[in-house]
Amino acid sequence: MAKQFDVIVIGGGPAGYHAAIRAAQLGMNTACIDKWLNKEGKPAFGGTCLNVGCIPSKALLEASHKFVEAKESFADIGIVTNGIDIDVPAMIARKDSVVKNLTGGVAALLKSNGVTAMEGTARLLAGREVQFTAHGGEPESLQAEHVILATGSVSVEIPPCPLTEELIVDSTGALDFTAVPKRLGVIGAGIIGLELGSVWRRLGAEVVVLEALEEFLPVADQQVAKEAQKHFKRQGLDIRLGTRVMSSEVKRKKVKVDFKQDDGDKSETFDAVIVAVGRRPYTEGLLAADSGVNLDERGFIYVNDLCATDAPGVYAIGDVVRGPMLAHKGMEEGIMVVERIADQKTLVNYDTVPSVIYTYPEIAWVGKTEQELKSSGEKYNVGVFPMAASGRAMASNVTEGFVKVIADEETDRILGVHMICAHAGELISDAVIAMEFGGSAEDLGLTMFAHPTLSEAVHEAALSVHGHAIHTANRRRRKKS
Ligand code: FAD
Ligand code: AMP
Repeated sequence: MAKQFDVIVIGGGPAGYHAAIRAAQLGMNTACIDKWLNKEGKPAFGGTCLNVGCIPSKALLEASHKFVEAKESFADIGIVTNGIDIDVPAMIARKDSVVKNLTGGVAALLKSNGVTAMEGTARLLAGREVQFTAHGGEPESLQAEHVILATGSVSVEIPPCPLTEELIVDSTGALDFTAVPKRLGVIGAGIIGLELGSVWRRLGAEVVVLEALEEFLPVADQQVAKEAQKHFKRQGLDIRLGTRVMSSEVKRKKVKVDFKQDDGDKSETFDAVIVAVGRRPYTEGLLAADSGVNLDERGFIYVNDLCATDAPGVYAIGDVVRGPMLAHKGMEEGIMVVERIADQKTLVNYDTVPSVIYTYPEIAWVGKTEQELKSSGEKYNVGVFPMAASGRAMASNVTEGFVKVIADEETDRILGVHMICAHAGELISDAVIAMEFGGSAEDLGLTMFAHPTLSEAVHEAALSVHGHAIHTANRRRRKKS
C-alpha cells in the first residue's frame, strides 16, 4: 500500500521547506522530497537559494566588498593597511562552508519539526499520487491529501553562447572560479549578472557586461538606475547597453563573443564568460500527462492567486509559478498555502514584495516605480533624501546614494520606496512594513527612528514628500503644507 501523508511537498528550496515546516507545525503529517545533489554528490536541502543562489552569492559579495573596502577606503578612516591580498580558493572554501552549514541546518530543521525528508526525485501522478525514487533506488508510491509543487527554476541557456566546462559558465559556475579571470564577459545586466560581475570586478577582473536592452535596469526606478550606472562605471564595470550577443567561439582557452550594436557587428575576447540572461521554471519529469496540472504559455505551473493549480488539492509555489523569482516570495507562498489548508485566511500581498540588488551601493525597492506611475497617470508626490546628508552615513563613510519615497498625491498612501545606498537591503524593510499596513508618507514621518542610523534616511525621505525633511533642502517636487 502507498505510504500516506497529509501533505507532500516536492522541492526543498526556500518555498518548499518553508511550506513543509509550517505544515508540520500545524500538525500535518508532512513529507518533503528533494533531489538536489551538491558538489560532493551528497543530497542537500535548500534548493537553488542555499546551494547556488542567494547565500553563496552573498558570501562572495560580502568577501569581495570587504577586500575593496580594505584596499580603497580604510585609509579614509585612518586604518593603514599594507600588502592586502586575496586568496580565491580560501574565499570559495569559506563560501562552501557557509552553504554546507545552512543546507545541513535545513535538514536538521525538517527533522526537528517532524517532517519526513526524502532524498530523491518525485513525479506527480493522477489523484495526488506521488511516485518517489530515492537516489539510486526503485520507484515507490506515496499518496497525499495535498501536494505542493515547489520545483523552482534553472538558468536560461542561449544558443549563441553554449556553456562549457570552465570558460562559458552560468551563475553556478561563476560562484566557483578558482582564480580571477583577467578579462571577464557577463551576458545580461540583470540582478544576477550585476552581482556576479561585481564580485569578480572587485577581485581584479576587467569586466564587460553585454546587455541587449537599451535601458539599464528597466525594472528599477530610473532615478535609482541612473545613479547605479554612475557608481558601476566608477567601479570599472564596463556596461554596454544595446548589445545583443549573437555567437561565440572558444579558441585556445579564450572566448570570442560576437555581438550586434546599433552601429554594426563587433566582438570581444574574454578569459571567461558568465551567461546571466535569466531563469526559467523547472518542471522536467515532474508531471504525468494525467496529473491535472497545467502550465501557462511561458512554462510556469498555472495557479490562481492562492497558488492552487488546476488539479484539486495540488498547489504550486515559488519560482515555478508566476511572479518575481525571489526566495522570500516563494517562502510566503508556501506559508499561505499550508495555512489555508489548515483553514486560516492567510494571503500573500504581491504589492509589497521587496527587490534587492546586492551590489555596492545596494539597490532596493518595493511598490511602484516613478515611471510606472507616470505611465498609468496616477498623481503622486516624491521625497528624496541623499545619504550624503545622513550623520550615520558620514560617520560610517558610506555617503553614496539616496532614498526616495513616492506617495499618492490625494491620499498620501505610500506607493513605492526606492533606494540606492549601503544596507539598502535592510532599510527596505522599513518601507515594506509601512506599506503592508497601508501607511502614508505622513505615518512614516511621524514614526520615531533611532539616531544615528542609516534608516533615518527613510524617515527623512518620507518627511521630504511634504517638504518637512530636516537635514536637506527639500528641493524635490512637493506641495506646501
Ligand atoms: P529552488 O530554490 O530552485 O528549489 C527547488 C528544489 O526542488 C531544488 O532543490 C530542486 O532540486 C528540487 N526539485 C526540482 N524538481 C524536483 C523533483 N521532480 N523531485 C524532487 N525535487 C525536485 N533570490 C532572492 O530572493 N535573493 C537573492 O539574493 C537571490 N540571489 C540569487 C543569486 C543567484 C546566483 C541565483 C541563481 C538566484 C538567486 N535568487 C535570489 C533567486 C532564488 O534563489 C530563487 O528565487 C529561490 O531559490 C526559489 O526558490 P524555490 O524554492 O521556488 O526553488
Ligand atoms: P534577468 O532576467 O533580470 O536575470 O536579466 C537577464 C538580462 O539578459 C536581460 O536584461 C536581457 O535583456 C539580457 N539578455 C538576454 N539575452 C541576451 C543576449 N543574447 N545578449 C545580451 N543580453 C541578453
